[in-house]
Amino acid sequence: MQKPVFAANWKMHYGPQETRTYLLKFLASYPPHDDRTIIFFPSAASLAVAGFALRDRPDILLGVQNVHWEEKGAFTGETSVLMARDCGATVALVGHSERRQLFGETDEMTARKCATIARAGLTPLLCVGERLDEHERGITQSIVMRQLKTGVSRLEKSQLATVLVAYEPVWAIGTGKTAKPEDATVVHAAIRRYFREALAGQTDSVRVLYGGSVNAENAAELVAAPEIDGLLVGGASLDVDVWTRIVGT
Ligand code: PEP
Repeated sequence: MQKPVFAANWKMHYGPQETRTYLLKFLASYPPHDDRTIIFFPSAASLAVAGFALRDRPDILLGVQNVHWEEKGAFTGETSVLMARDCGATVALVGHSERRQLFGETDEMTARKCATIARAGLTPLLCVGERLDEHERGITQSIVMRQLKTGVSRLEKSQLATVLVAYEPVWAIGTGKTAKPEDATVVHAAIRRYFREALAGQTDSVRVLYGGSVNAENAAELVAAPEIDGLLVGGASLDVDVWTRIVGT
């Protein structure tokens, strides 16, 4: 059985000072565990500080919220995967719904980013999920599978086997509405089926997380659901006490 993954997406919150304060408090109350994986996604400006704070805790991974698909160049304001790696990041979020909706990230861009991330030796965490209108039209699976297939289309088979995926219904992100575990399970199962077929049976290392208004009250039920390998948490991860409760579930 694989370890559950608990990933904290801090979005555009917490600069270097706040990041240091948060992580020192968290580390003081959370001793190393080998039965779960924790990933923090601070803002790019706080990555180096986070990497330093986590330097003696290999049980906790560092991730970057977004990178460009090129490794370097004239891309003002963007973050390079190589720079993120230099700060200690080993995971990179791709295709978060806020990137897709607010910054025009297309499926093809997510594919290019996933390939660049994997080539740099980091693990892509590809986010997929349907909008409310798509949910209401009953086309969740076709949207999610389109995002998934295109997103991983430039990965080699060996890279595909280690990818992380987060199913995050857009209507559940930051809204207080959570998908029912049984509904999320159906989508997770479809995602896993895709990898099983693409990898001809070797799916053990592909982890499928759920995200969307997870909190300390619903985390245990969600992570216990079949097919849900972990949680990607936004708002509730900003409070260190709440996050400590969530990762302790
Ligand atoms: C997210 O940002 O990925 C997310 C799931 O946010 P929230 O937990 O706030 O819904």
